[in-house]
Amino acid sequence: MKTRIGFFDFTGCEGCQLTVMNLENDLLQILKLVEVVEFRELMSADGVDLDIAFIEGGVSRKVDEQRLQTIRRRSRTLVALGACATNGGVNLLGNHRRIDALRQQVYASNAVHLQTENPRPLHQVVQVDFGIPGCPIDGQEFLAVLQALLLERAPELPSFALCVECKLHEYPCSFDYGEICLGPVTRAGCQAICIAGGDRCRGCRGLLENPRTTPYHRILEEQGMSVEEILDQYRTFGLGGQHES
Ligand code: SF4
Ligand code: SF4
Ligand code: SF4
Repeated sequence: MKTRIGFFDFTGCEGCQLTVMNLENDLLQILKLVEVVEFRELMSADGVDLDIAFIEGGVSRKVDEQRLQTIRRRSRTLVALGACATNGGVNLLGNHRRIDALRQQVYASNAVHLQTENPRPLHQVVQVDFGIPGCPIDGQEFLAVLQALLLERAPELPSFALCVECKLHEYPCSFDYGEICLGPVTRAGCQAICIAGGDRCRGCRGLLENPRTTPYHRILEEQGMSVEEILDQYRTFGLGGQHES
């Protein structure tokens, strides 16, 4: 019997699911090994048990909690897909505002019907077995994780900093032209795609397991940044509170 997988979305932009759909030829190969029993962008088959549930987006409504718990009960393995699901991602920017004021600003006269709460990552509601980082996820990394799970092996993520990939590609360093970059404390795996595009890293792949934040912050302070400005750097993808040492 094929492995039964499902894709579900909560509060997010569906960019991570789109990344999976964009795998095109690889997706056709995957379908030889797995049966996709649920994928809102393609089909719906509520209620069957799953071997693996891939879940995009965060939890921001009471009704989301119940739906997520139901999916958890149906699924042998639950994988969080992307930054919103793994650590809150950009949704957590909403936590810096009063939720009722934010709701009013976004939904205006419809606000009263939409009982949104402060957004949370999945692990604050159910047990998550594995998380695929990024905003959006990397398609090849998704395939590698799926392959490991099909072989009943623990998936692995790069455990080194983005700067390593950046240096290997010989990209110019953002710090050299006065831009703050989260590369020294961010998990590698995207091939420093933002640096390649002339931007800086904002940490969408989350922090390393043991980021060396003390020396990093010292460098930022030497650049004239205040503590508040440094903390601000972590807020884009909801990394506040994760930096320890
Ligand atoms: S992680 Fe990024 S791409 Fe994925 S759902 Fe959230 S906002 Fe969209
Ligand atoms: S640009 Fe960013 S990721 Fe690249 S070396 Fe500099 S700090 Fe590291
Ligand atoms: S460079 Fe940083 S922000 Fe850009 S994709 Fe990679 S981890 Fe995300």
